[in-house]
Amino acid sequence: MFSQPYLDLPPLKSASGSVALPGSKSISNRVLLLAALSEGQTWVHDLLDSDDTQVMLNALEQLGCHLIKEQHSVRITGLGGSLKNTAELTLFLGNAGTAMRPLCAALSLLGANVSMTGVQRMYERPIKDLVSALEQIGARIEYLQEPGFPPLRLQRSNIKINGPIRVRGDVSSQFLTALLLALPLVSQDSDIHIEVVGELISKPYIEITLNLLAQFGVQVQRDEWRTFTITKGSKYISPGAIHIESDASSASYFIAAAALSEGTEVLKIQGIGAHSIQGDIRFVEAARLMGAQITMGPQHLEIKANQRQLRGIDLDCNHIPDAAMTLVMMALFAKGETHLRNIGSWRVKETDRISAMAKECRKLGAVVEEGPDWLRIQPIEASQWRAASVHTYDDHRMAMCFSLAAFNPNAQTIRIEDPRCVGKTFPNYFETLFNLVQTQGDVIPVICIDGPTASGKGTLASKVAERLGFHYLDSGALYRLSAFLATEHGIELALTQESAIVDLVSKLSLRFEGPLIFIDDREISQLIRSEEVGMNASKVSAMPMLRAALIDLQRSFKCLPGLVADGRDMASVIFPGSKLKIYLTADALTRAKRRHKQLISMGITANIDNLYEDLKARDERDMTRLVAPLKPAADALLLDNSDLSIEQSVEWVLNWWQSKNIA
Ligand code: C5P
Repeated sequence: MFSQPYLDLPPLKSASGSVALPGSKSISNRVLLLAALSEGQTWVHDLLDSDDTQVMLNALEQLGCHLIKEQHSVRITGLGGSLKNTAELTLFLGNAGTAMRPLCAALSLLGANVSMTGVQRMYERPIKDLVSALEQIGARIEYLQEPGFPPLRLQRSNIKINGPIRVRGDVSSQFLTALLLALPLVSQDSDIHIEVVGELISKPYIEITLNLLAQFGVQVQRDEWRTFTITKGSKYISPGAIHIESDASSASYFIAAAALSEGTEVLKIQGIGAHSIQGDIRFVEAARLMGAQITMGPQHLEIKANQRQLRGIDLDCNHIPDAAMTLVMMALFAKGETHLRNIGSWRVKETDRISAMAKECRKLGAVVEEGPDWLRIQPIEASQWRAASVHTYDDHRMAMCFSLAAFNPNAQTIRIEDPRCVGKTFPNYFETLFNLVQTQGDVIPVICIDGPTASGKGTLASKVAERLGFHYLDSGALYRLSAFLATEHGIELALTQESAIVDLVSKLSLRFEGPLIFIDDREISQLIRSEEVGMNASKVSAMPMLRAALIDLQRSFKCLPGLVADGRDMASVIFPGSKLKIYLTADALTRAKRRHKQLISMGITANIDNLYEDLKARDERDMTRLVAPLKPAADALLLDNSDLSIEQSVEWVLNWWQSKNIA
C-alpha cells in the first residue's frame, strides 16, 4: 500500500500562472443526491473526484442507482422518489458530513433499511439535532454506539407530517440542508414547514441548497432564516445536465498563495468568479480586507502578488466557515493582529479546527489565543519563523492551509504530516500547487543513490521517492534506451558512431509516467530491461558526448517537492549539490543471486554462476573505465545492504534524510 508519512515543502517565493481547480465538494454531493432522487437521467459534468464524492457515489450505487462514469462526468439514472434496492444495506460514508447527513434524512423518508457507518472521526461529529427533527415525523433511527452520533441504523417507518418540523440551526447548517433535500420526497399531501431553532449558522451553504433545489424543480419559500416552506406536490425533475463549478474553498489557498508572493506576477484561477453560488466566494472580500489585490470576472479570479502589504483584520467569519481557516495563515504574514470571530462550527468539523489551527500555528512561532468560538492571531516576525512538522489531524484543510507556511520569509522548510489527507476534497492539491510556484533560490532537494550493478539501487531509489512523495530519475534507463534505439536503428555501438547515437537520442520525444517510459507514444519500459540491453547500455554509457547530451535532460527531473536520482555520476556531475548521497553496495554473490531471482520472475532463464562471473567482469569494467568510472562520491554515505531487506534499506535512507532535514 502506498504510504507517504510526510511531505517536506522547501521555502517558496511566489505563485503565478493559471490554474483550473476541481469541482466544489458541497455542490458535487448535493447534486449527486438530487440526481439520484429525481426521475430520469442527469449528466453531472466536472464532478469533483475525491474521497467524499466517492463515498456518496458508492452509496448511491448500493441503493440501486445506475451510474455511468466518464472522465470528469457521471450519468445518473435517478430513483424517481422510491428505492429500487429494499434489501438491508450498510453504507460506509467515510468522514463525509455532506453524505452522512442528507442521506440519513432522505433514506429515513424513503423507508430504507440501512446502517450508516464511517471513520472514527465521523462517530464524533454530532447528528442528534437532525435525528430529533426526523423523529418528529415518525422516522425510526437507532444510534449504534454513542447516543447523538453515527453510526446509525434506519428502519422502515410510517412518516406523518402534522405540523412544522423544528431543527436546530446553530450547530451545523447541514441538518437543515439535509431536511430541505429530503422533505420534497414526502410533500404529496400538504405544504411542509421547517422552523429553525436558534441562530442559523453558515447561511451561504443553505443558499447553495436552495439554488440547487430550484435547478431540480423544487422552489422553497423562505421567511428570513427562520421558516422554510416546501410547497405541496413538489417533485424532483432532472435538469438533464448540470455543471459543477470549481470549489471556492479550494480557491482560497491559491488566492492566499498569490497574495503571499514576492514580485509582481499574477495568478489566474479559472472556473470560479462573481457568478459563483458558493458562499466561500466571499473569502475574496475578506482577503481584500487584508490587502490582497483580486480582480473578479464572472468565472475567473486574478490575484496580484503583494506579500509586503497584508494587514490584520477583525472579522465575523460565520459566512465563510471553511475558507476562513485560510485567513489564519494569511494573518501570520500580516501587519497587526487578526481576530476571527463566530467560528464555533470549526469545533465539530473534520477535527476541532480552532484548537488544531492554534496548536500548529504555535509550532511555526506564532502567538495564538483561542476562545470557544474565536481565534486571535499575532503575526510572526520574519526572522522568527520556525521549521515545523505540522500535524494535520486527517483534515484536508489543515494540510492545504499549512502548505502556505512554506512562503515564510525565513526560508524554513515546512513538513506536512499525512499529506494525502487532501484526498477528501482535492487529491492533486500539492501537484497543482507545485506547478504554480517558484522557490526561494535553489532549494529543491535531491537524493542521489549510486552503486554497482544489481545492488538494488533502482528499487531503493524508487521506494524512497514514493515514501517522500519525490520524483524519481532512473538514469540507467536513459543509457538503456539509447543503446536499445541505436541497435534498433542498426547503429554500431562503437565510439566512431557516437555522434549518430547522440543525434538519434536528442531528437527523441521522451515521456515518463511513473515507472512507464514512452518514446513518442510507444511504451518501451520492459523492452529495455533485458540483460543484453544492460550490457549494451554499459557500452554507450562510456561515450563522453552521449553523457554530455543527457545532462540537461537529467537535470530537468529536479522538480518540487524533490528528486531521488539513481545511477553513475548523479552525485558528482549531475547534482553535485545534492543534500544526501548514498553509495549502495552488496557483495558480488548476493547481487548475482538477486539478479537471478529478478530475471526468473520476469520469465527469463538465467544461470547464477554465469551471472556471478558477468557481474564481476562488469564491476571491473565499470570501475576501471575512463569515462565516469564507478566510485563513491567523496561525501557519499556507504550502505552495504547484503544483509538488509529492502524495507530496512529504505528506513536507513529515510533516517539519514530525516537527520538532514527537520529535527
Ligand atoms: O542501472 P542500469 O543497469 O539500468 O544501467 C545501465 C548501464 O548504464 C550500467 O551498466 C551503467 O554502466 C550505465 N550507467 C551510467 N551512468 C548512469 C546510469 C547508468 O553509466 N548515470
